Amino acid sequence: MITLNPHFLELKPSYLFTDIARKVEAFQQSHPDRQVLKLGIGDVTLPLPEPVIQAIHNAVAEMGTAEGFRGYGPEQGYAFLREKICQADYTQRGIGCIQPEDIFVSDGAKSDTGNFLDILGQHLTVGVADPVYPVYVDTNIMAGRAQQIVRLPATAANGYQPGPDNLPQALDLIYICSPNNPTGSVASRELLQRWVDYCHDHHALLIFDSAYEAFISDPDLPHSIYELPGSETCAVEIRSYSKKAGFTGLRCGYTVVPAALKVTAEGRPDEVSLRQLWNRRQTTKFNGVPYIVQRAAEAVYSPEGEQACAGNIAYYKRNAALLKTSLAKMGYQVYGGSNAPYVWLKVPAGFSSWSFFDYLLEQQALVTTPGSGFGDCGEGYIRLSAFGSYEATQAAVQRLQQLPRQI
Ligand SMILES: *Cc1c(COP(=O)(O)O)cnc(C)c1O
Repeated sequence: MITLNPHFLELKPSYLFTDIARKVEAFQQSHPDRQVLKLGIGDVTLPLPEPVIQAIHNAVAEMGTAEGFRGYGPEQGYAFLREKICQADYTQRGIGCIQPEDIFVSDGAKSDTGNFLDILGQHLTVGVADPVYPVYVDTNIMAGRAQQIVRLPATAANGYQPGPDNLPQALDLIYICSPNNPTGSVASRELLQRWVDYCHDHHALLIFDSAYEAFISDPDLPHSIYELPGSETCAVEIRSYSKKAGFTGLRCGYTVVPAALKVTAEGRPDEVSLRQLWNRRQTTKFNGVPYIVQRAAEAVYSPEGEQACAGNIAYYKRNAALLKTSLAKMGYQVYGGSNAPYVWLKVPAGFSSWSFFDYLLEQQALVTTPGSGFGDCGEGYIRLSAFGSYEATQAAVQRLQQLPRQI
């Protein structure tokens, strides 16, 4: 008899974005004349940079010729892209411990985040921040670890990046997202070093999600976990072209598993290379990213590509800065928004995340994301996204200014 993986039944239904959509639709129906402005989007909106489009055209043309046609490629990604990533994202940034063989090109960070659990043991205690990107939690629940997830409060007191002190129990697997979705906070070098040290002391593994790395402009903030000494023996890094280069619809990212990372299997004494296991997993279950998409990713690193991507990031960052400074001037408590495309706003006294969401929608036709949708510690906050147009962001700020000051 066929049965289900019972752990899928332990997942909480994900209502956040459907609830938002339902409320926005109801508002629009009752106020057909009002133009809704969306500050809730977690997706890029600018078109793909021209050098990327050009690379796609070239690759398409190649595929139509006998000499240029490519069938199955290497599951780990083409050497041209792995070498480029290694050079541009690591070697040139002073990181010497990463080799092209450590880099596994994929269809994005979300899949890798979930897939990586295939190669890890069952009885792990998992640490995530609260609020959190829901993928870390739900993929662990699917893998049967619902009772083994420890939520670490991300609060104003710790700058929305919890550290390894006073943990309620020892952790074996730790997720860090920096720059962070949803709070826009960025982990300092000092904090990350404490996590790396923690991992060494407890034989724990760190999964470092740096999907928003391109938004960092503060020179003191680390872009990669491998800037921290000792991380190459305890950390996996997951990156994506989604936010950096507008690939949310094109789909490409990569995961770094350093050769030096060794882990023992449950009940066995000998250490096994995590990279070797991930390679085995990928070559068995994945047949690689399309050649055309990998050429598009390669173009991100050309001088024209770098310039175009930097221009798009600067555009979103201008929105984030406008939101942040305007809201601060209005007297709101705002966090993030400086090295990230999200502003994390403390709702005024007397409101909850959802009641402030409703208030902004009803009063000013503004759509935001209630912080409580990302975890209990997100209650009392809303997330504002900088991924809209500059004009829409300006208009949103004007509407926010029309709200009574002391609410
Ligand atoms: C957007 C985002 C990603 C990127 O996911 P892709 O699957 O590569 O599009 C990864 N992590 C976080 C936290 C994100 O918000």
